[in-house]
Amino acid sequence: MQPSIPLGRIAGIPISANWSLVALMALLVWDLKNGVFPASDPGQSGGVYLLMGVAAAACFVLGILLHEFGHALQARREGMTIHSITLWLFGGVARFDGFFPTGAAELRIALAGPAVSLVLGFGLLGIAQVSAVPLAVQTVIWWLAIINIILGAFNMLPALPLDGGRTLRGTVWAITGNLDRATHTALRVSRVVALGLIAGGIMFAVGSGNAIGGIWLAVIGVFVLQAAAAELRASTVAPPTGARQIRDVMHPFTASLTPNTPISELAAAVASAPPGTAYPVIDDGEVVGLLVCDVIAALPPDRHARARVADLMIARRDLTLIDPETTVATAREAVSRDRWGRALVVDGGILIGIVDLVDLTGRRFAI
Ligand SMILES: [Zn+2]
Repeated sequence: MQPSIPLGRIAGIPISANWSLVALMALLVWDLKNGVFPASDPGQSGGVYLLMGVAAAACFVLGILLHEFGHALQARREGMTIHSITLWLFGGVARFDGFFPTGAAELRIALAGPAVSLVLGFGLLGIAQVSAVPLAVQTVIWWLAIINIILGAFNMLPALPLDGGRTLRGTVWAITGNLDRATHTALRVSRVVALGLIAGGIMFAVGSGNAIGGIWLAVIGVFVLQAAAAELRASTVAPPTGARQIRDVMHPFTASLTPNTPISELAAAVASAPPGTAYPVIDDGEVVGLLVCDVIAALPPDRHARARVADLMIARRDLTLIDPETTVATAREAVSRDRWGRALVVDGGILIGIVDLVDLTGRRFAI
């Protein structure tokens, strides 16, 4: 992407606009002034149509920004760090540090953007029905309602890196627990959707005479094909910068549990632990399992008194164990196949730490 123009910070997140947005704006204002608004609200002067076009285009960009904030604020709730939001030719891009912590988190983050656009779109549609404002204003509101609904619906196309593609991958990832399998499933569907957009766009351009609309669809299809290929590279080989071995990225354990500890004794500590916190379970100096705190949160409180750590832990035989000298690339494969997306780091039989998918992917992901 070309250099972008900084626009300031909102909620601590740097916002910028790419130069391609200026081109999109010019094209949009021209189309609204000469085509859309004269057709829906005839009899106005050229100056009024220009004013309507500029206002509608500016509010459209605001709608894209709100859509991206939907993603960014949900990502923040999932514990991710938001790097920036950039507005560009195809809408907006929110960038995050690290990787989605779980499939369910990716699903929620992906859905948050289109949810904002659809609520905005249907809200504006309601306002356009009842308002007693001048027809010119009503026409602009009506157009904004439709464009936000289209933005929300279009983004739900099941093609990576669109929101629908992330929704699909997050769902498959959450169900199977296997990120690689989920990525490949989503990419296969993405390719079919991309080729459909290209073919459909060409047919639409030739058949309907709306050349710009058809070419636009085909260009988005090409963009999806390229972006899906980049997504595969980012998801399969993403070693953090500088880190070569697991020793460099793992977290040492600060506490451990014994198998016979009652869950009721842990409830208070677990309530304040960040999502995904896990403790090793040690018996006689040997690792016998791993307790993920989220499991306790899911257990009804009346069962806390009877349950012990041994009842809720992941048993050693089901865990992925790796050596601290393992390369990040090799570990990344093993961890993405692990049901819980984690591996325990064991050095000569002694447990020294844990790594998860977030530690093994230093890349920024965008939505
Ligand atoms: Zn989105």
